[in-house]
Amino acid sequence: MFLTISTTGTPERPATDLGFLLHKHPGKAQEFSTSHGTAHVFYPEATAERCTAALLLEVDPVALVRRGHGKGRGGAPDAALAQYVNDRPYAASSLLAVALSGVFRSALAGRCTARPDLPEQPRPLRVEIPALPARGGAELVHRLFGPLGWASVRTEPVALDERFPEWGDSRYVRLVLEGELKLDDALRQLYVLLPVLDDAKHYWIAPDEVDKLLRAGDGWLAAHPEHALIAARYLARHKRLTQNAIERLELARLAEADGSEAEELDNAVDESPDAEERSVPLAVRRREAVLAALRTAGAARVLDLGCGQGQLVQALLKDVSFTEIVGVDVSMRALATAARRLRLERMGERQSSRVTLLQGSLAYTDKRLAGYDAAVLSEVIEHLDLPRLPALEYAVFGAARPRTVLVTTPNVEYNVRWESLPAGHVRHRDHRFEWTREEFRAWAGQVAAKYGYTVAYVPVGDDDPEVGPPTQMAVFTTATDTPKEGEAA
Ligand code: SAH
Repeated sequence: MFLTISTTGTPERPATDLGFLLHKHPGKAQEFSTSHGTAHVFYPEATAERCTAALLLEVDPVALVRRGHGKGRGGAPDAALAQYVNDRPYAASSLLAVALSGVFRSALAGRCTARPDLPEQPRPLRVEIPALPARGGAELVHRLFGPLGWASVRTEPVALDERFPEWGDSRYVRLVLEGELKLDDALRQLYVLLPVLDDAKHYWIAPDEVDKLLRAGDGWLAAHPEHALIAARYLARHKRLTQNAIERLELARLAEADGSEAEELDNAVDESPDAEERSVPLAVRRREAVLAALRTAGAARVLDLGCGQGQLVQALLKDVSFTEIVGVDVSMRALATAARRLRLERMGERQSSRVTLLQGSLAYTDKRLAGYDAAVLSEVIEHLDLPRLPALEYAVFGAARPRTVLVTTPNVEYNVRWESLPAGHVRHRDHRFEWTREEFRAWAGQVAAKYGYTVAYVPVGDDDPEVGPPTQMAVFTTATDTPKEGEAA
């Protein structure tokens, strides 16, 4: 199991600084005993211009079995283990990632006692992995490394056997990454993504594995479009741990983007000086449109999904026809603000029995959300990565299944009308997408058809003859009580 890391340099910034960064002297070959065998670190080249460090792990089958890795979860011998013993000895599997973290612990943490300034500096790096086991193939390798700041991600198929090209390709690819990165960022990516690509079933999941993932993913994983796949595979598809990891990643991302600005920005752009009369802020008009649609639907028990700081919950409480109001958000910080806004603590018993705030991610089915009259998703869907949207659709339309669902989202066509919004920009940093009217209708129509709802569209804000309204709302109503057969999976 084998990988190399190279860098180039100049007399002032010699490439051999790599030795300091890795805490391994370029002049000697070293051996380390790890839980899975012996790791070797050596430098095939070490000049001021070019320096390459190689990490090679000699897997020791006896050590593997002694450590209990030879047994599956139920204690039965694990057939997947055989792969590591019979595998090409240089395949860079999840075991190599474990060796990497052991041998280069300080480098992974970005520590360098001898030269504390070094880890801070990005440098030209080239990582080569001659045989990377990749379940999902080269395409997935590109999806995973593509968004991580490398100038080039190259993959080549590895033939099953060079002597017999007609046998086709093996499950390995040769991977070369090149770019200007900090070494610790590169190592932490590899530490996470090697086991993710290997997708080995035998991988032992310790209780602190989520913490390890989040530590190694610091600064790159939360914003990665494939963070859900990465978490699921890294955690060997352990459901509860994966859910926990994804929630914490979503929170980290929202904290970075500061999830509270959506309304502020809408207000700011709404009050642009060219507005004829002081217009009602868009957020207020949106709330009024939602309240009107809920009243028309005759809803009494209402979910506010992605309730944020609780403005809608507060408005619902003022109308006694809403007998039960549940605000759900993934962000504890938003919920804490909502609780303060509502003065939950000082609320009388009668009032407080009407309202509940729940923490949870909308990308998971949640039994607590079943059986309500209506659900509101106000300015929420655009905060989810597109690949995660079907999970939300299932959780809301398939599992919770309220009679009415209201979804609002920005109409991107209207963005040209915001004076203060530079062309081509979304309205909020955390928006993963903003749709045209046509795109929104295509999405809503397909969701309605899949889950047995009918859908109508309501403009929110001034309906511009050319570009439409600033906010678009879809009103879904159940056509049947249960989803169409076979659609609910
Ligand atoms: N509904 C409010 C807030 C919109 S901002 C309004 O109309 O003003 C989007 C909200 O969705 C944020 O509070 C964010 O924390 C929440 N959110 C984003 N992704 C979520 C998820 N996966 N699960 C639950 N809430 C989420």
